[in-house]
Parts: sequence; C-alpha cells; structure tokens
Amino acid sequence: MPQDRRPLIAGNWKMNGLTSDGLSLAEALAQNMKAETDPVFDMCVCPPFTLVAGVGEALADSAIALGAQDCHAQEKGAHTGDISTAMLSDLGCSFIIVGHSERRADHGETDGEVKAKAAATQASGLTAIICIGETEEQRDAGQTFEVVKTQLSGSLPDGAAATNTVIAYEPVWAIGTGRTPSLDEVQEVHALIRAELTKALGEVQADGIRLLYGGSMKPENARDLIALADVDGGLIGGASLKAEDFWAIAQSCV
Ligand code: PEP
Repeated sequence: MPQDRRPLIAGNWKMNGLTSDGLSLAEALAQNMKAETDPVFDMCVCPPFTLVAGVGEALADSAIALGAQDCHAQEKGAHTGDISTAMLSDLGCSFIIVGHSERRADHGETDGEVKAKAAATQASGLTAIICIGETEEQRDAGQTFEVVKTQLSGSLPDGAAATNTVIAYEPVWAIGTGRTPSLDEVQEVHALIRAELTKALGEVQADGIRLLYGGSMKPENARDLIALADVDGGLIGGASLKAEDFWAIAQSCV
C-alpha cells in the first residue's frame, strides 16, 4: 500500500439492516470517525437501498462516504424496481458497487452490463467500485488470471480513471466463507490487475486506481492484506455489519 494511494475501507451491508440497527451502526461509525483527528484512510458504507437516505443523514457530519450496492445503467424511465445513478447521487452517494459476484450469479449480470453500470456511475460524477473475481472451480482449473483479465477488460468503461474507479478483487470462494487466498496469491492477482490497468489506461491512471481486496476480510487478517504492495484497502461484507470489527479493520491502515 504505497503512500500516494489512500486506503479505502468500504462496507457492503448486502441485504441486511432495518432502520434501527442500520442507523445505530452508521452512528457508531460516524462517532468513531469524528474522534479520529487525522484519518489516514477513506471509509465508505454501502447500505441496502432502503437505508441509503437515513444512513446518509447519520453520516452527514462525518468524513465517511455513502455508497450503494447496485444501480441501473439508464438515467431514468420504465425500469420498475430499479434505481438510477442520478437518484443515488441525489441522496448523497459518492460510490456505487457494480458487478458484485452475488449480482453476477443471482441476476445473471454480464461484463457488458457491469461496464454500462460503471459508465453510468461515472457519468453521474460518482466512483464505481467494480468487482471481479474467480470461482473456486476456476481457481482449481488454473484459470484465475484469465478470468480476472476477461472480467476486468469487459467491465471497465472507456473513461475509467483514478478519480472515478476502484477495482475490488473478490475471489468468489472467499466471500462469506472464512477462507482467503494466501497473501502471495492476493498480491499476484492485484499485480496482474495493476498491469492490465496500465495497458488499458496508462501508467498514471493505473498507479492511482485503488485496488481493494474482498473476501472474508476481518480484524485478524486485515493488516497483512492491506500491507501488500498492490492492495489499497478492502471491500468488506460480514465484518462491516459490526461497528467494532469494521472500525478495527480500518485501524489496520494506521
Ligand atoms: C463481499 O460480499 O463483498 C464480501 C467481501 O463479503 P465478506 O467480507 O462477508 O466475505
């Protein structure tokens, strides 16, 4: 984690939280952040759509950014049940997660659709957190690099830049399982992603884009993961639902 890329600790609450527990969690994090005199990390929380507005209010006076877990690629129109990037921007979001493996699996999202969502996110002035990662079968078959390269090139919009793009490497088999790749395995995939970004966008942008690791990150393993040369923070699911754990992960950047 070089000095010039500020670490980002992003929480993906997934389909968890009703008003009272979601707001308590956000308030606890906001309090912690306010007590931090000079935070050396950025923090973002991505609650379910139902809590975006309320969590935004709870975080309003803190340095914690608000995010969402998905969006539609179109600006507006006849898309029942969908939410546009302009709507999320209107609520104060500055990040949108796109292409999470659970959306790719549960909703059949393709790289092309993820790319369109990321482009819409960026067009609204927000930062897309683009998720990529291999399944266990693909890793066992030695296809990790190929899968990651294909997902990255297929999901990265043309206008991607350090100011509007974050890439989250999330091995599908590590999400919510308590298992993680070895530190060497994480670093080699992140180095590959950085090299592919350099080819696609040039060195300046590729050096500036933050690469998050996601998949069973917890207080116990966060420090070692975040210390890796090409890991610039984490996308955290389960452990982001407990203020203590999420905050402890952020403290691993200090
Ligand atoms: C995720 O779903 O983005 C994730 C990383 O989940 P967990 O931390 O629970 O593995």
